[in-house]
Parts: sequence; structure tokens; C-alpha cells
Amino acid sequence: MLDIRFIRENQLQLQQTAERKRIEVSIEELLRTDEERRKMLAEVERLRQERNRLSEDIPRQMRAGNKTEAERLKEQAKAVGLELTENEPALAGLEQQFRKLMQLVPNIVSPDTPVGATDADNVEVKRVGTPATFAFEPKDHVTLGETLGLIDMPRGVKTAGSRNYYLKDAGLHLHRAVQQLALDLLVRKGFTVMDVPLLVREETLNVAGFFPGGQEQTFRLPEDNKWLVGTSEASLIGYYADEIVDVAEPIRLAAVSNCFRREIGSAGRDVRGLYRVHQFAKVEQVILCRGEDDVSERMLQEITGNAEELLAMLELPYRIVAVCTGDMGQKNYKQYDIETWMPSRDGYGETHSSSNVRDFQARRANIRYRDEEGKLQVCHTLNNTAVASPRILIPLLENHQREDGSIYIPPALRPYMYGMEAIEPKP
Ligand code: AMP
Repeated sequence: MLDIRFIRENQLQLQQTAERKRIEVSIEELLRTDEERRKMLAEVERLRQERNRLSEDIPRQMRAGNKTEAERLKEQAKAVGLELTENEPALAGLEQQFRKLMQLVPNIVSPDTPVGATDADNVEVKRVGTPATFAFEPKDHVTLGETLGLIDMPRGVKTAGSRNYYLKDAGLHLHRAVQQLALDLLVRKGFTVMDVPLLVREETLNVAGFFPGGQEQTFRLPEDNKWLVGTSEASLIGYYADEIVDVAEPIRLAAVSNCFRREIGSAGRDVRGLYRVHQFAKVEQVILCRGEDDVSERMLQEITGNAEELLAMLELPYRIVAVCTGDMGQKNYKQYDIETWMPSRDGYGETHSSSNVRDFQARRANIRYRDEEGKLQVCHTLNNTAVASPRILIPLLENHQREDGSIYIPPALRPYMYGMEAIEPKP
């Protein structure tokens, strides 16, 4: 959510941003509603004061024996009361409409964000490593996983429906190894690591900027009035909601959690294998820092760098793209995606998403800090994947496969893999 004064001063820019982000909202309607709301609020306050004044005056006139005057004031009070019964609901309606429109307004985008309609318009900013070439016919991760006894897709579908899977033995070790490697990296970098609630209140998803808009993608437990998070980012932002925090040093949080997504609208997309599933695990980085553009830009580079460090330890080739306006979420100010080379796609596939949300989330969540003068300021927040598995298993298995059917395990993972240097085919 943005500051209404900012919206008033940047109406045209915001309408253009909404169109570029493909969000339907009329800034003009919002500003009109705000004006009506403020006029109505002033009128209701005037009437309430008048009612209070009259209710003090009437007994005073009675006590002084001015019965006629008291009767006249009573008539006046009745008229004021009548007006209030009409104006108060009208004000509530305007407040509700105002809040609804405010929640639809997108965040502005950074000056260096590319303008574009879809992910095809994202701009590559960096490429690291060279995609593997094979002197044999490489297999995809599903075939590798099934042959080596790491992945069981058919039984996942049997027990839980489409886009579900089992991970077994070295498949499970690998899934846990990448998460522990990421967690250890973030612990070394001073992050506070957490296990977080995954079943959360609707309000948490609202303040973190996932709702409105994200309900369709989120699993709901109506009997308990809770939602299953699609990312622990929501729980991490909710952690400091309505608090005044100390961001003299940026607050670095990380959570390891399962994530749940309905993937509505993805029918027919990425149906084979582990790329797009309903349940996956993610180590997520979240930063809260001072509401200053140079500070949050530095943090964006830092959390993107952390993910790059991890990919280097996994010995995987990747590229970074600057995400364009049309492919960027409502709440993001600037976003990089990291895409890792996936031989079976003969291309790069998204494995990480790094975003500067600026003050958009913190304003909704009411997370503030005191500046040098003691004035309350709104924080900036950022988030990035450290690792998401099983998607990362796709490049790991596919890039590190060898002609003899085994999978090479990079040294950084071995301590978490019971010392295994390779996953060998079973005799
Ligand atoms: P996001 O929170 O949407 O930016 O996603 C962060 C990362 O989570 C992505 O880059 C993927 O690695 C992973 N991810 C997101 N959705 C899925 C999914 N449905 N299945 C598997 N991994 C996913």
C-alpha cells in the first residue's frame, strides 16, 4: 500500500504503472472516493460535535427554566440525529470502498525496471557458468530420479492427485541437503533463522500484500478460517506487523518451510516432473531495513548475491534477469529472477526470485522505525529465495549426471549427504 499523499502527487505515473503491471484500478476513482470520504468525514464530525453541544445545552436550558428554548434545541438535536443516521453509513461505505481501491494500487517500479508485457520481455543482466554438454544422450530428472530410486511421481499422484510426488533415499537426502546448506550459509551471514506458522490468518496475507489478488492461488481451510502459505515470506512479514523495530542494522530473517500453491491457471504447463508442484520446500530470506532507496538497493544486491553463492556451491550455471513490469507482482518495486540451466528444458528455468518491495508491505503491515530525530518512518522490505526444492533438484540431477548413470554430488553438499560423492545406480 502506498501513502495517499504520494498517490495524489503521482496519479498519472501510478495509472501507467497499473496498466503496465496489468492491474485493473482507476486511480481517478480512488482519489474521487478519497475526496468524498474526507468531505463526509468532516460533515459527520461536525454533526457529532453539534449533537454533543446540544446534549449539553438542553439540560442547561431546562435547569434555567427556559422550557421553550429547550424544546427548540430538542427538535434541532432530533434533526441532527436523523442526518447522522444517514451520513454515518454513507461514511462507512466510502471508507470501505476507499480501502478496497487502496489495496489495488500497485507499487511504483524502479527507474531501471524494464517495461514489458510478459517474461519474454525480461532482460538478462548476468550469465554465470556454461551449460553442460554431454557426450551421451542425457536423461531428464524424472527418468534419472525413477531409475535411481529418488523420485516416485506415479505414487505421488495416486495418494495426493496431480503435481504431487514422493522423494526417497538419496532423493530425500538431496532435498534436505540443499536446504541445510542454504540455512548454514545464512546463519554464517548473520540471519536469524526460524521455523514459522504455515497456517495463517487472512490478515497476515493481506498485510504482506498477497491478498487481495492471491486468494485463488492459496489453499484455504474454511472451517478454521485459516490459509496455507504459499511462501514463508508472509509469516516473516507478519512477525513484526504493528511493531516499531530497530533497523540501525538491517534485520535479516530466514525461514525454512513447506510452501503450498494451488497453481490455478497453470493447467497444461510444466506437467512433467518436479518443476511445478503443489507442495515444495523453501529457505526464504526476508530483510527489513531503513526506508531509504540506497539501503534497500544494497540489500537487494546482498540477498541476490547469497543465492548466487549457493548456486556456485552447487556448481550450477545460471543467469539473472531483470523482471519487466508485466511479469512483476503488484507489490514489487524491483525484481530479479535467477534462472538455472535445466538441460531437459534446453534452457534456463526460474529457481529464485529476488525483490525489493520498498515501503509497500511495511506500510500495510504497519512496521516502522524511529529515525535520528525520533520520527516514525516506514521500513523497506525485501525477499529472495535462498533455495527452493524440489525444483532445484532438476538442474542438480540433470547437470551432474554422468554417462555411467550416476549423479555427481558437489563437495559442498557431501557433509549433508552422509559423505556421498555420487549417487550410484543400484546394482
Ligand atoms: P516465488 O515465491 O513465487 O517467487 O517463488 C520462489 C521460488 O519457489 C521459485 O523460483 C521456484 O524455485 C519455487 N517455486 C515456486 N512455485 C513453485 C511450484 N509450484 N513448484 C515448485 N517450486 C516452486
